[in-house]
Amino acid sequence: MAGDRSPTEERTMEKIVSLCRRRGFLFQSSEIYGGMNGCWDYGPLGVELKRNVKDAWWQDMVSRHDDSRPLEGAPASFEMVGLDCTIIMHPQVWKCSGHYDLFHDEMVDCRETKKRYRFDQIRARWALAKGRRVCIAVIADAEEEHEIATARAMKHFRLRAKNAEELSWDGEFFGLDELGDTSEVLAPDAKEVGTLTEPREFNLMFQTNVGAMVDADATAFLRPETAQGIFVNFKNVVDSSRVSIPFGVAQVGKSFRNEITPRNFTFRSREFEQMEIEFFCHPSESAEWYRYWRDRRLSWYHRYGLAGEHLRMREHEADELSHYSTGTADIEYAFPFLAEGDFGELEGVAHRGDFDLRSHSEGKLDPSSNPLTVQRGEDGKPVHRGSGKDLSYRDPVTNERFLPHVIEPSAGADRATLAFLCEAYTEDEAPDDAGKLQSRTVLRFHPRLAPVKAAVLPLVKKDGMPEHAQALYRELKQEFPTYYDEKAAVGRRYRRQDEIGTPFCITVDGESLSDGTVTLRERDSMEQRRVSPDEVVSIIRDAIRG
Ligand code: ATP
Repeated sequence: MAGDRSPTEERTMEKIVSLCRRRGFLFQSSEIYGGMNGCWDYGPLGVELKRNVKDAWWQDMVSRHDDSRPLEGAPASFEMVGLDCTIIMHPQVWKCSGHYDLFHDEMVDCRETKKRYRFDQIRARWALAKGRRVCIAVIADAEEEHEIATARAMKHFRLRAKNAEELSWDGEFFGLDELGDTSEVLAPDAKEVGTLTEPREFNLMFQTNVGAMVDADATAFLRPETAQGIFVNFKNVVDSSRVSIPFGVAQVGKSFRNEITPRNFTFRSREFEQMEIEFFCHPSESAEWYRYWRDRRLSWYHRYGLAGEHLRMREHEADELSHYSTGTADIEYAFPFLAEGDFGELEGVAHRGDFDLRSHSEGKLDPSSNPLTVQRGEDGKPVHRGSGKDLSYRDPVTNERFLPHVIEPSAGADRATLAFLCEAYTEDEAPDDAGKLQSRTVLRFHPRLAPVKAAVLPLVKKDGMPEHAQALYRELKQEFPTYYDEKAAVGRRYRRQDEIGTPFCITVDGESLSDGTVTLRERDSMEQRRVSPDEVVSIIRDAIRG
């Protein structure tokens, strides 16, 4: 499948973005009004693809999970249940989780262009010409940064193309945080040097007001992650269902982050979907469960076609870990918009200890006060803002009472969808109707993820073939998403399906009318075989199950 693809095959982001737009996978949000930065709409094919990614995750992790025996590699059998929590929650949740006080990025403004940038995303390099030196800043993909910096430096030093050799560079690109001050920096898009402000902190949560009054007591936030909904419902789940530790709770849903510089297509959006599991276990077993979830989540991506050198798991170094975590691993993918050798995070698997449940239990806020203002105890120290409710767990067999540890595999549905799209994108050659080789674009999706599973094509638009094909189409459509296409030569129709990743094309020809058999063409190998209509459904079903 897609994982076999050679890394030398070309898969530029530009081509993938253009295919996504042309064939209806993804559109810019509010495009007719000039677009909404950091927001993306999934088109008719994109919505199916993303739903298949989320369904595959939910079915594999929750609904088809077998809790009657330990799964391969798991220390014991366990249960998995789901939740669907609100996007707007009590503001104290975010105070307690640390998001209100700590969830920020540093940003800088440009006094000249009035543009705002994430400080850590600006890259810069010292340029020398005409006896002067200036630090050229860019916000660009790694493959473009040199080109853009050169064009800006040439303009800044007023050099013509024929004098290009007068420009030289001192050192490589670096992050602006390595620079003491920004007075010699030419900001991205600016004409003057030294127009960047000092970096300032910027909270990533979207703020809103609940109810008719717009005052401090009405402030609420759109959730920046789905995880907290699971923690605050921990006791509800334990008390209302038959689960006992170890067990996991899963949630899929929208999250919002006011990213300062959203970029790289859907990779960094302001509105996106997460697929998160909080797995609750006994502290003495948590290290083992951490290893289990890390390995299991990596193999999930393998199963659907991300493999080889484009996918890797990276254990965080000790100095990268949050203070409460004893282990975190990122599952990363080499997206084509990144520089050679760079990877972007698809999912983080974290050992969170008892940090979250402890935090939500400890401390108690005076209910009449605003949960967001600092409240101090008698000793003058800020009061921790937990719920004051006991969120510990009592083991029904041993009667032991403890605060469970949590392992959190936290994935992004949009990033996973984008990675599957990038990995599936392939260019190769296929014979046209005259048998001549022509280039073709194929999305080699795993059949379970493919938005359309089969296309039914009458060989010609006459002799009863369309009627026969339509009857088959209607039958297949009851089983899985199927297309019917009778327009253009059959080779072109195959190519149209290859380009959207349809794994099977079924052609109805003269022979079909007499003995009922059809030709089944497989997308990747382009092999064709004659099969009976009864076989078609089971062949496709088996491939989807894969
Ligand atoms: P990054 O460092 O890339 O900002 P993060 O470490 O902040 O990501 P988490 O808070 O661990 O991300 O969120 C879990 C997952 O949610 C990420 O692995 C990613 O798949 C997804 N995610 C986070 N932020 C975004 C975003 N702005 N756009 C799309 N997906 C996102």
